[in-house]
Parts: sequence; C-alpha cells; structure tokens
Amino acid sequence: MKKQSKKNIAEIKKRFLERYGSAKTELEFTSDYELLVAIILSAQCTDKRVNIITKELFKVLPTVEAMAASSVSEIASLIKSCSYFNNKAKNLLAMSQSVVANFGGKIPHEENALKSLAGVGQKTAHVFMIEFLQSNHMAVDTHVFRTSHRLGLSNAKTAVKTEEDLSKAYVTDLATLHQAMVLFGRYICKAKNPLCETECFLTDFCQSRSNFKPS
Ligand code: SF4
Repeated sequence: MKKQSKKNIAEIKKRFLERYGSAKTELEFTSDYELLVAIILSAQCTDKRVNIITKELFKVLPTVEAMAASSVSEIASLIKSCSYFNNKAKNLLAMSQSVVANFGGKIPHEENALKSLAGVGQKTAHVFMIEFLQSNHMAVDTHVFRTSHRLGLSNAKTAVKTEEDLSKAYVTDLATLHQAMVLFGRYICKAKNPLCETECFLTDFCQSRSNFKPS
C-alpha cells in the first residue's frame, strides 16, 4: 500500500477537522477519576455499555479512595456486564490503591506516572491525556488502526508504530484527529460493511475501497 503524499495528508486532516472539529468522547465522566475508570473499562467494550456500568459504579464507589477500600469481588459484581470484568476489577483495585499510596489520592496526569498504574498502558494513558487535558497526543485503538491503514496514512504492523506515523503526519490537532478517526471508524469506515458509497467523505484517498462491495 502506498503512503499518502504530504499534500494528501493535509487534505485528509482538513476534512477530518471540518467534519469532527468539535467531537468529544462518548464516554461520560465528571472527573479525572471517572474518566480513567471509564477508559480502563472501555477495552473490548462499547462506550454505551461502559456508560451504563459507570452510572451505577460511581454511586457506590464515587472516589478513588472508596474504590481503593473496596475489593475485587465488589468491583467485579458492579462491572460484571463488561467484558473481562474479573481482570478489569483486579486492575481497578490495584490502580486505585496505587493512586492513594503513591500519588496522594490524585490521579496523575503525566504519561509515565499514568503508565505506572495497573491496567494503564500507552494507549490508555494517551486517551486519558487527550480527553482530560486535550494534549497533543495520538492514541491508536482498533478504529484508528483500521482507518489509518485504509487511508494509506500508515503501513505499520503495530499500534505503537502507527501512532508514531500519525503523529508525524498530522503534527498538530492530534487530540481532535484521534477523536475524529475513532468516530469515523465507528460509524462510517466500519470493519464490516463500511459506508463507502453513502457516507464516506474520503473516498478519493482510500486505498482499500476496491476491497469492499458498495453498500
Ligand atoms: S471508502 Fe470505504 S473503506 Fe475507504 S475510507 Fe471510506 S469508508 Fe473507509
């Protein structure tokens, strides 16, 4: 697959910003604690499902201290409709206890400190910083990975390398572009039956379109 020229990247970026310039995450949160918990829960789980879960979860465990004083079994019972809920419950307990023990009960906002927490890798740390701080970071989930490859913005085999490619290509507005590509992948450039003919505004740059039947 041929990578896009600088001119084409600039046009793709412009169209994403025009279409999704004011887009926000679909996860609901009112604090950094709530956002971090929601992002950890959202792995392999839809934002819609996470919002249903967190509404009840935060009534019982409204603060990081309350979660730290909880137990794996209590957290698991509160998030049991989420995929991998046992593992996520273990991570949430360990994360909250680490925040209380090592960060004075305040969710850290810096990348390396975030990555020291259980259940928080580079993607989660970047998504947190993008959504809470609007920091100039890219994060590559399944939607960003798929759409960036279909559009010829990256040929990389891994999410980390794809993130590097996108950061170098776009340079600025990474937080908005991350959100744009998530929404584009979720609702238009879907894994199965992408809406190439009816909804896509980037068909002239697509490198994969011929692989799909028109919907
Ligand atoms: S033409 Fe289809 S496959 Fe290509 S970017 Fe648009 S929606 Fe995705």
